[in-house]
Amino acid sequence: MGRIIAVANQKGGVGKTTTAVNTAAALAAMKQRVLLVDIDPQGNATTGSGIDKHASENTTLEALMGEVPLADCLARSEAGYDVLPSNGDLTAAEVQLLDAPMREKHLEQALAPVKDSYDYILIDCPPSLNMLTLNALVAADGVLVPLQTEYYALEGLSALRSTVQQIKEHRNPRLEIEGILRTMHDPRNNLDNQVSAQLIQHFGDKVFRTIIPRNVRVAEAPSHGLPVMLYDRASRGAISYMALASEMTRRHIPQPTNTPA
Ligand code: ATP
Ligand code: MG
Repeated sequence: MGRIIAVANQKGGVGKTTTAVNTAAALAAMKQRVLLVDIDPQGNATTGSGIDKHASENTTLEALMGEVPLADCLARSEAGYDVLPSNGDLTAAEVQLLDAPMREKHLEQALAPVKDSYDYILIDCPPSLNMLTLNALVAADGVLVPLQTEYYALEGLSALRSTVQQIKEHRNPRLEIEGILRTMHDPRNNLDNQVSAQLIQHFGDKVFRTIIPRNVRVAEAPSHGLPVMLYDRASRGAISYMALASEMTRRHIPQPTNTPA
C-alpha cells in the first residue's frame, strides 16, 4: 500500500519543492511507483517536473473539489512518475474548502482510490499552515520536513511539530514525522554546522542522515523542467537525492517498538 508523505514546512524557500521533485525522481529511478501531488498554487513542482501548469485542464483543484476523479487529472513526467498538477487556480480551493463539509479530508478522499497503485505518494505543500497544507497532513502517513540549517530554522520547527502533534491527536492518528532533511547545506559554514548539531540533539534519529548540499545544478534543473538526476546525474545534488531515496526506503520497514516522537 502506498505511503503518503507530505513535504511541509511553513517557512518559504527551504527546499520543499526541490525535495519533492527530486525525491520523486530518485524513487522512480529505484523502480518505485510514485505520484507527486502538487498542492501549492505556485505550481513549482508541476513546472519542475516538466509539465506546463497552464496547459493542464484537470488539476489538483478539480480533484480536491471532487469534480473530476483524481486518476483523470494526472500527467506523466519524463522521469517516470505521475504528477497531479496545480496552478494559480488552486487558490480558489482554499476559499471553497473553508465552507465545505469535511473540509480537511478532501485530499484523503480523492487519493483513496489510487493509493494502492503507488509505492509512494509525495505531496508538495505551500509555505503556510493553511487549509491546503492541512488537507495534506490529514491525508499523510508521514511529514518530511526540509530545513535550511540557519539560525531561525529551529523556531519554525517547533511550530510545525506542535501542529503535527495536534493533527495526530485530533484528526489523523497515523501521522508521524517522517524525517527532518537538512537542505542547501554548506559544510564550510560554521553556523550551518552548529544548527545541524542542535537538530540532532533535539530530534535524534528523526533527522535524516543524508544531507543535501547547496549545489548549483540543483538550482538550474527546474528551468529545464527536469529533476537534477536527469539534468546532471553525476552532480552532488543528484547523488544526495538518490541517497535520500534509499535512506527513505530503508527506514520504512515497520518497527513495532517505535518510540513516540
Ligand atoms: P516555497 O516555500 O516558495 O514553496 P520551497 O520550500 O519549495 O519554496 P524551493 O523552491 O525548493 O523551496 O527552493 C528555493 C530555492 O532554492 C529555489 O530557487 C531552488 O532552486 C533553490 N534550491 C533548493 N535546494 C537547493 C540546493 N540543494 N542547492 C542549491 N539551490 C537550491
Ligand atoms: Mg515550493
